[in-house]
Order: sequence, then C-alpha cells, then structure tokens
Amino acid sequence: MSVEEIDTLVIGAGQAGIAISEHLGSRGVPHLVLEKNRIAENWRSARWDSLVANGPAWHDRFPNMDFTAHGPDDFVPKEQVADYFVAYAEKIGAPIRCGVEVTSVIQQADRFRVETSDGVIHAVNVVSATGAFQRPIMPSVVPAEAGIMQIHSHAYRNPSQMPEGAVLVVGAGSSGTQIAEELLRSGRKVYLSIGPHDRPPRRYRGRDFVWWLGALGIWDLKVPAPNTEHVTIAVSGAYGGNTVDFRRLAARGMNLLGRAGTYDNGILHFAPDLADNIARGDANYLSLLDRADDYAAKNGLDLPEEPEAREMLLDPESMTNPTLSLNLADAGITAIIWATGYAQDFGWIEADAFDDKGRPIHERGVSKVPGLYFLGLPWLSRRASSFIWGVWHDADHLASRIAEQRQPGARAASAG
Ligand SMILES: Cc1cc2nc3c(=O)[nH]c(=O)nc-3n(C[C@H](O)[C@H](O)[C@H](O)COP(=O)(O)OP(=O)(O)OC[C@H]3O[C@@H](n4cnc5c(N)ncnc54)[C@H](O)[C@@H]3O)c2cc1C
Repeated sequence: MSVEEIDTLVIGAGQAGIAISEHLGSRGVPHLVLEKNRIAENWRSARWDSLVANGPAWHDRFPNMDFTAHGPDDFVPKEQVADYFVAYAEKIGAPIRCGVEVTSVIQQADRFRVETSDGVIHAVNVVSATGAFQRPIMPSVVPAEAGIMQIHSHAYRNPSQMPEGAVLVVGAGSSGTQIAEELLRSGRKVYLSIGPHDRPPRRYRGRDFVWWLGALGIWDLKVPAPNTEHVTIAVSGAYGGNTVDFRRLAARGMNLLGRAGTYDNGILHFAPDLADNIARGDANYLSLLDRADDYAAKNGLDLPEEPEAREMLLDPESMTNPTLSLNLADAGITAIIWATGYAQDFGWIEADAFDDKGRPIHERGVSKVPGLYFLGLPWLSRRASSFIWGVWHDADHLASRIAEQRQPGARAASAG
C-alpha cells in the first residue's frame, strides 16, 4: 500500500486545527488536517442543545471574521458556532479531510509514521489539535446497583432526556450551573453540588467580563495562580447572559450542597464546604469589581457606576445549615449528572514527549520532540489558550515555529 507524504499533519479540525491551518497556509507550509468526524464536531455533538457561547459574539470568534447573523453582544448558539468554523475553514481553503481517524502517531528518526483509518501517512511535523476536553471524567462514587441514571455533562442534551424525578448535578463550573438552571426552569427539583469556583460578574459598569479580563491582562496570565489548578469557572451566556448567583438559584428553589464525597447504602455524603466555596467565589467576584473600578479610575474611563453589583442576597438555609448526607431515594433523585470535567488522552502518540502522568511536556505548545506540537490545551501559553480567541494566537506562534524549522539546516541547528 502506498504511503502518503506530507510536510505538516494537523490532527483535529476543531477551532484549533482550523486556526493553525490558516497560519500554516499564510506561511506557505504544505499541510493536511485530518478530522475523524465533521469540522467542529464537538460543538455539535458533545454539548447540550441549548448551549450558547460563554462569551459575546464580538469576543468568541477569530479576528478575521465576524458572526454576521448576530449582534456583537449576542451569545451565539452552539450550532451556529460550529457553522462559523465550517464557514471559516471554507473561507481560508483549509485542506481538511473529514471522516479520517488518526489511530497512532509513532516517532521515527526524522519524521512521524501516522496510522489512520484511511492508510499510513509520513509527516515531518505533527500538530495535535485534538482538544482539551477529550475524555469525560466520571467519578465512580455511586454504584450502578443504586439504580440511578448517571451521565456525564457531555452526554446531557435537554431536560426531557432525564427520567421523572429530582436530578443531582455534581460540579458547579459553567456546564454544571447552566445545566442545573435549565433543569430548574423546566420544573425539576434540582440539587447542585458546588466545589471551589471562580464566579466573575457577567457584566460590570457596562462591559462584559471578557472585556475586563482583557483590560486587566487576565487573559494573558501565563500560569494559574497558586492552588487554583482545580478551580472551575462558573459563567453563563444563557438567557441573554447573567452572572451566576448561587444564592439567587437557591431562592428560586435549587438545593445547594457542598462537594460530593462518598456513598454508602443509598446515602451520598457531602463535604461541609458549601459556605466556604461560595465565599471564595464571592471573593473572586468582588476582587474583579475592585480591579475594574481601579482600572477605570486610573485610566479615566467614563463608565457608569454600579454600586448595586456589590449587593448580595442573604445566605440561604442550605448554606447556614448545610446538608451533609442525602438519602437519594428519599430525596426523589432518579438521575445524577456529573459535570466533573474532562481529561486528556494522548495514549495514541508514541513519542518521548510526555511526563509520568501522560501530560505533554512543551513550551508554548512546542514539545521536546522536534516536529511534534500541541495546540488548544488549557494554559498552553496563557489563560486564553483553550478558548476560541486565544487558540488563534497560539496557532500563529506554532505555525511560525514550524515555518522557521523548515528553513534549510534549521532542524539540525536546533538539535545540535
Ligand atoms: C461545554 C463547553 C462549552 C464551551 N464553551 C466555550 C465558549 O463559549 N467559548 C470558548 O471560547 N470556548 C468554549 N469552550 C472551550 C473550547 O473552546 C472548546 O472546547 C472547543 O471545542 C475546543 O476546540 P479544539 O479545536 O481545541 O478542540 P475540539 O473542538 O475538541 O476539536 C478537536 C477535534 O479533533 C478531532 N479528533 C480528536 N481525536 C482525533 C483523532 N485521533 N483523529 C482525527 N480527529 C480527531 C475531534 O473529532 C474534534 O473535532 C467550551 C468547552 C466546553 C466543554
């Protein structure tokens, strides 16, 4: 069987693969993008039906194309985010081959042997753009024998999919809070287990929080603040975009719980950390308001004052007298949605490029193996890296490195 030869092979045609295709193309680097499904597939089939982008249309996009069917402050529905990337790929003429899965990448002396569902390819460079959110993490806390439907948030679609009864959502990042709110609005009894989180204001003084993150340099932070690696961010563009406010959700009937712990005999236990976790989210919220006020004052910005943004509802009973164990049957809980995040899986890459936990060792996406690159990972170069706007800039950097390495003698010089 003949082997296809290509200079640079990009694996994955989500936003990351499309972004690097644009930057490789503009530098004249011959390349091919392989996608096992469809372009931007995960925006279509790994997200719930009502999801909208977490950032407004002016922000959650690539610099060279607007969302024409939406105003700049709209939160674009996820199907239209996928359509945007399909249109973008077409606009730049990205050489994407869909329906081809890469099954292994094997490091060889001066190239990579790439095995795919459609034959073998030899590539000088490989860019893994397979996404940060690859393998849903679903803790095995509640056994199947408990007779409760359990799904990960990536498999949640809408309330009608859930059996009759109350639903427990575990995890209060953006996915967990949005899903829990949707279920509550649909008339379900909802329990929400809340861990440590950041909770930015949706808007403050007339500006969306993504604008403030830019102005305050937070998108460009190079590493997470100490001890915040496991802190999720609770933000939502749903229903026009509102600040996530757990006290308000409790006032509307949501049952708040601390972090889910162990399970025995029909009873699920929760850490006594609900009030602390909410206090921490409040502190994060208030610190952003403080920093925004400070920035506005220092830069003479004429933005309307918003003192009411500092007002909070009283702590609900669930915070002052927290539930530490819950008999799931007595509570009427028939389903659990684990909104507990994702792991990465690079087991299909055979190269000396990973640490002992299987995480890529890299510098801004340039791995220690010449010719092997990673794109779209959280904190690849900075906080924005796994988001639409940030990945485009990381892709520019990687494409420039790849183009440099193609200069005669460059690879030998960097190896020596
Ligand atoms: C629920 C949720 C909501 C989000 N909302 C936003 C938001 O509003 N704004 C924002 O900026 N970011 C958001 N993100 C973060 C991020 O933008 C998305 O996760 C985005 O899909 C990441 O793009 P990507 O190209 O890096 O990866 P993906 O979109 O996951 O694309 C990777 C592609 O690689 C393909 N692939 C994987 N393995 C192989 C293989 N072996 N062979 C061939 N192809 C392969 C997959 O089919 C997929 O199409 C959200 C993330 C989640 C989970």
